[in-house]
Amino acid sequence: MTDQLTPFDADRESDTDAGREFDSLDPRNGDVIATYPLQGTADVEAAVARARTAARWWDVQGFRGRRNWLLEFKRAVASEAESLAAVVSRESGKPSEDALLEVMLAVEHLDWAAKNAKKILKQRKVSSGLVSANQAAYVGYRPFGVVGVIGPWNYPVYTPMGSIAYALAAGNAVVFKPSELTPGVGKWLADKWQSIAPSQPVLQAITGDGSTGAALCRADVDKIAFTGSTATAKRVMATCAENLVPIVAECGGKDAMLVAEDADIDAAVEFAAFGALGNAGQTCAGVERIYVAKPVYQQFLDRLAQKVVTTEPGGAPDSAYGPMTLGKQIGIVRDQIQDALSKGGRAVVGGVDSVRERYVDPVVLTDVPEDSTAITEETFGPTVVVNEVADLEEGVARANASKYGLGASVFTKNKAQGRRIAERLQSGVVTVNSVLGFAGVPALPFGGVGDSGFGRIHGADGLREFSTVKSMTVQKFTAPLNLLTLDRKARDMKISAWMLAKRHG
Ligand code: NDP
Repeated sequence: MTDQLTPFDADRESDTDAGREFDSLDPRNGDVIATYPLQGTADVEAAVARARTAARWWDVQGFRGRRNWLLEFKRAVASEAESLAAVVSRESGKPSEDALLEVMLAVEHLDWAAKNAKKILKQRKVSSGLVSANQAAYVGYRPFGVVGVIGPWNYPVYTPMGSIAYALAAGNAVVFKPSELTPGVGKWLADKWQSIAPSQPVLQAITGDGSTGAALCRADVDKIAFTGSTATAKRVMATCAENLVPIVAECGGKDAMLVAEDADIDAAVEFAAFGALGNAGQTCAGVERIYVAKPVYQQFLDRLAQKVVTTEPGGAPDSAYGPMTLGKQIGIVRDQIQDALSKGGRAVVGGVDSVRERYVDPVVLTDVPEDSTAITEETFGPTVVVNEVADLEEGVARANASKYGLGASVFTKNKAQGRRIAERLQSGVVTVNSVLGFAGVPALPFGGVGDSGFGRIHGADGLREFSTVKSMTVQKFTAPLNLLTLDRKARDMKISAWMLAKRHG
């Protein structure tokens, strides 16, 4: 991390909330990594006020100027990717290879947002229609002003960058509140921006806990981009409602994978293991439920068990996955395994004893009743349920029975069938014959339905999410039928009535 003085640091001394601090800890061993200020209302309001001023400068840069600045920011991040990945790895505990891949994906999004904002958001002409042929009609997109980004700890660069990059490219200034588990990541990003544009705090980070996030919602922000749990999203919405601040909510998931009778079982097993255990299962769109068609159920289960039984978490750079980042999640994972087993489920790999003090070994459960919490609630751990279904039809029904709807996947050699099934799955994103395949496609909007949230980050929709729509008409000539007058002529009304009947009657 750099030790440069940021605008944020410079003002800290004068803030009334100065003095309160918290530690960020290495989840592999509990060691203190660094200490950060726990910022309160005064700090947050000051950061938002600075952002408000910077937003005016940022707006004046226009699409071309912002593209250049953002590409410079991208190069600055990319050229020190390993330093950022080291912070991610230390704070989240994930293996450094995984952390570097996360940075790589985040950089791809930054690049895409920078290069595509003009094409998507520039004012465009639309048809004005027959009745208003005398008007030229335009749709344009304006930045909100200041966007507050509240991020989680599981992908502390990639996930918030899905909001930060798109909000910046759309012309907003951003105040970023990283999770209290990963504050160093937020500070690293804000410092990096500060190193290229020292006098323009277009991207700032504020550090603290949930109260700092709540203060951000109450500060003078124009939009909140929230990523985190569904329960917190509801609190964030309630706080934002006080000032009618709109939000985009990227929440948890309970993603299902469907495996058809004709699927490539080896490939499905490989993706299932990665989707369920990667990042210790702490992936919003990770695989948590697998529904396998009866003819291949046993074969799939045996091969998955064989594949993961020797998988070991650890703290090495190339470990399969790391520790549980959030201590209290360990109890949730244990409770869900217990609940599944007590209701008649079977553990094929691991069990309750797989849940250790900091690490959770792989757990594969089967025959788990659909009312178990391992099926109904987000687990966020390296456990997965594999249940048998008669066919894909039953698989679709079970997948769609969840209150969540973030991601889903289908495995079948019949790609046309795969796409048909994919269309019917109630989720914001879906993959055929892979998992998480969308993460590296910046053009694809990302987000969920139901308890997984609303609104979209990434892609054209992600850029529009951080813009307000501005519609405009320019009168070209006086209308032959002059209806927008208090002195409407009987002849004009007669022709209008005739047109109505002819066109729509
Ligand atoms: P949390 O909901 O606990 O926290 C998310 C963020 O909100 C954190 O920065 C947190 O701060 C902050 N926060 C907490 N309370 C408040 C409050 N009252 N007002 C404003 N902000 C608040 O989620 P986690 O960090 O534990 O992340 C895991 C969750 O995120 C999982 O459910 C996962 O599925 C979801 N997620 C969703 C993604 C998606 O794109 N759909 C992507 C990644 C994760 P602090 O941490 O300091 O308490």
